[in-house]
Amino acid sequence: MIPQNCTFCGLCCTLTVRLSDNEIRRIEKGSSRKREEFVVADSDGKPLLKRENGWCTFFKREGKVGMCTIYDSRPDNCRDFPGKRLCDLAENPIYGNLTINPENKRIKLLLKNAPTAATKTEKVEEAKTKAERTFTKLS
Ligand code: SF4
Ligand code: SF4
Repeated sequence: MIPQNCTFCGLCCTLTVRLSDNEIRRIEKGSSRKREEFVVADSDGKPLLKRENGWCTFFKREGKVGMCTIYDSRPDNCRDFPGKRLCDLAENPIYGNLTINPENKRIKLLLKNAPTAATKTEKVEEAKTKAERTFTKLS
């Protein structure tokens, strides 16, 4: 579900994503990649989507935009995110005290164009344009 205030900032593709066996099979089929290439284990041995330099391994920056390269076979958590009408990920306390490292520098850039639940509709288009500029810089 794409939230009404989505600015396509790409912040949600830096989150940790858990995977079920069904989802792993679906991604293998949809991406032609083997599970060893995109699955890592958490501290309890449970499967997570691999991240590279802070991004999901299936996230691709192309010119002005960021995109999911397995959109049709993406995990359920990605399909359901944020699970409500308005995205407010930028307000999550996990972003409160980011230490300074290359990964977090990128997250801070994405945060600038991520909406809050209070973002007015007329500001969404402006934030989308700014997010596109960020991706151009990151490409
Ligand atoms: S974090 Fe929210 S606004 Fe940004 S791309 Fe994801 S859903 Fe859209
Ligand atoms: S699978 Fe696609 S939507 Fe989900 S985190 Fe990766 S790039 Fe983003």
